[in-house]
Amino acid sequence: MGPPGAGKGTQGEILEEDLGVPRYATGDILREARRAGTEMGREARRYMDAGELVPDDVILGIVREALAGEVAERGFILDGFPRTVAQAEGLGRILDELDVRLDAVVDIDVPDAVIVRRLSDRRVCRDCGSVVGPDDGETCPTCGGDLVPRPDDRPETVRRRLEVYREQTAPVLAWYASSTVPVVRVDGVGTVMEVAGRVRTGISR
Ligand code: AMP
Repeated sequence: MGPPGAGKGTQGEILEEDLGVPRYATGDILREARRAGTEMGREARRYMDAGELVPDDVILGIVREALAGEVAERGFILDGFPRTVAQAEGLGRILDELDVRLDAVVDIDVPDAVIVRRLSDRRVCRDCGSVVGPDDGETCPTCGGDLVPRPDDRPETVRRRLEVYREQTAPVLAWYASSTVPVVRVDGVGTVMEVAGRVRTGISR
């Protein structure tokens, strides 16, 4: 968990590699649905571009589908989910059905000023969705596609996403803090590898 631009995707990818378990990022799944032009993608679009959350039932459907399968045995990382208390409760029900427990909630902490700067520098590939920084050249290092700003990284949308985070997502941390799942708080300011080290230390405790 963490506000927009905290580095959830970047750290999630590193952890996925380190632990060798699949990562389910609801934002990535929604962007993929938009690119594919599915009905869910079309519905999600107006919420995403306005910086609002996609309705809980849509998100819980995505997560239920992702976790169905052999996931319980291998473990998994959830990235950018749950973002509301209702989603956390829904996740609890899904995990109960699968007889799986969460080992930890990782909360990446980054001040607003850093977030606004990071998001204005972020570009994504129009074709494959890879995220790149300001120093990565003019075309996608993965597939050679065009790099564009993410549509929801416009300053006014970022402000709304931060408000939404404070109003709807921050309460999820309080909810987990009063549960039996350990919440690992990590300072998200630093280089990617510094933050990855903190995440690793935090979860190994
Ligand atoms: P992200 O890539 O995680 O920053 O997500 C981008 C956008 O997708 C968010 O601003 C929301 O509009 C939507 N989204 C992603 N995950 C969720 C979620 N768990 N609940 C509701 N909306 C979500």
